[in-house]
Amino acid sequence: MGKILVTGGAGYIGSHTCVELLSSGYEVVVVDNLENSSKKAIERVESISGKNLDLVIGDIRDEKILDKIFMNQMVDSVIHFAGYKAVGESVEFPLKYYENNVSGTILLLEKMKEYNVKNIVFSSSATVYGDPHEVPIKEGFPLKPYNPYGKTKRMVEMILEDLYESDKSWNIALLRYFNPVGAHESGLIGEDPRGIPNNLTPYITQVAVGKLKKLSVFGNDYPTKDGTGVRDFIHVKDLALGHVRAIEKIMEKPGLFCVNLGTGKGYSVLEVLKAFEKACKKEIPYSIEPRRPGDIAKCYADTNYAKEFLKWEAMFGIEKMAEDAWNWQKNNPDGYGDN
Ligand code: NAD
Ligand code: UDP
Repeated sequence: MGKILVTGGAGYIGSHTCVELLSSGYEVVVVDNLENSSKKAIERVESISGKNLDLVIGDIRDEKILDKIFMNQMVDSVIHFAGYKAVGESVEFPLKYYENNVSGTILLLEKMKEYNVKNIVFSSSATVYGDPHEVPIKEGFPLKPYNPYGKTKRMVEMILEDLYESDKSWNIALLRYFNPVGAHESGLIGEDPRGIPNNLTPYITQVAVGKLKKLSVFGNDYPTKDGTGVRDFIHVKDLALGHVRAIEKIMEKPGLFCVNLGTGKGYSVLEVLKAFEKACKKEIPYSIEPRRPGDIAKCYADTNYAKEFLKWEAMFGIEKMAEDAWNWQKNNPDGYGDN
């Protein structure tokens, strides 16, 4: 089994993926600048899995850091999570997003090429589909991201597609995540957003734990079952296991592939709220507010290709996502405590 370089491995999805990689017997080296994460996440990954990993605190835009890693570690594949992910912030500061997500990735790819490491799993997102003409969303649907964040994801996909065209010895997985939620069942690692959360489920758990007063439900006049937005929420452990499968697939030298990582089921904002109320055993106050600009009505994955090609499918339902997210929030009301 090879050694995997995980960029952004201290982050939300990265830390859960490190647990599953270590548990599956892979050696792991993480590079993370800790800009949006905590070193404690790595310590807890090690305590959950009972195994150690190498943590390099540094930036993927720093050539010297990458040289040091590729020179000293026998890396054979990279899982690339590092980047910025806040849609609203990307509208306000587009250059910041293009610089980290696109330029940062180009430097990483140049270094991979230089050191002849040609296997990469890339964190893409369902936002590359924009507002889909129908659901469920298949991988072949038109791609029309409409905010700078989504565009950085599509641009990196395009760069990877061109790189593969130029040199077919690369193996490249483009993983398009739907809405990751939940936490490790130990309650030791989970999502720790800085400031007031933008995303639905961390907002709900912070209301439940008393840090925020009430949830604003953005719009109840969408053409959906109850008028609120519908999304494909996927347990972060399922997502992490999808990465382990992608790495296994890459070992078969498949060339370039692109898969949706979702459950294929759409839940509305109010259905999610109910599931969390059940998990927290308390009522969560909310009010209906106007639609949030840029939001779409419905987004959920067609999962057939992931099942057929990757032999992967999500195991956990919304109840388990809510239970684990709540378990993490109540045991760590202030996240890792060093925000
Ligand atoms: P996260 O912010 O928790 O993790 C990203 C990590 O990368 C953080 O630990 C951060 O400190 C680090 N980082 C950022 N820029 C870096 C740099 N230049 N050098 C080194 N480290 C750097 O985010 P996440 O939710 O775990 O998301 C991981 C990836 O998945 C991101 O690329 C994100 O765009 C993508 N994604 C996330 C979601 C989601 O809803 N969480 C959905 C689709 C795609
Ligand atoms: N949402 C909401 N209130 C919030 C945050 C989100 O009603 O405080 C809704 C949002 O309008 C969307 C869904 O929850 O319909 C998921 O939003 P999130 O930001 O979590 O993920 P997105 O799908 O936008 O990436």
